[in-house]
Amino acid sequence: MPKKLSQKALLEQIKADIIKSNVCPNLAQTSTQLVMGHGNINADVVFIGEAPGKQEDLQGIPFVGAAGKLLDEMLESINLKRDDVYITNIVKYRPPNNRDPLPEEKKDFWPYLLRELKAIRPKVIITLGRHSMGHFLPDASITVVHGKLFPLVMSDDNGNKLGIKLLPLYHPAAALYNGSLRETLFNDFKIIKNLIN
Ligand code: URA
Repeated sequence: MPKKLSQKALLEQIKADIIKSNVCPNLAQTSTQLVMGHGNINADVVFIGEAPGKQEDLQGIPFVGAAGKLLDEMLESINLKRDDVYITNIVKYRPPNNRDPLPEEKKDFWPYLLRELKAIRPKVIITLGRHSMGHFLPDASITVVHGKLFPLVMSDDNGNKLGIKLLPLYHPAAALYNGSLRETLFNDFKIIKNLIN
């Protein structure tokens, strides 16, 4: 189905609303800028990370630091490029000193993430790490559910049901210095390849 022409406008509206509503004012003050989602707005596959780190905060683009390089490598391993997918975060300002996002920060950004997902209308949502997984699968443990598919039903703004597959994966940052987790993540990525083929 062709995607609506107004997608770009919808995404710009979400950004404007985050600023207008002064979401997480403390984070807004301590960070350099708001880091919105990036990539192909017509993508079937959306990745959701936790929050921008130092490089993301400076460049205004998600996953451009060390974890992002590993994400690029994993995408390449299944013949995908960044331009083929859409990448975003649950919390869109960098938490100071890269601390974990707080529960209330994730909660405050959640409605905007939902709007973002409804604008993109992906077929597959991949959560990276436990923070973005937590809102979709609140009781799940990532060590148990990583690499498993879950059905997700979401309604768009016209009340149409969107059937989406949810795939929780480990966060690439966790795999940077852990060889066995890295192997697990590369293996789990093969599921994405099977899904899109
Ligand atoms: N980690 C994340 O979760 N998101 C980013 O954008 C970068 C690192």
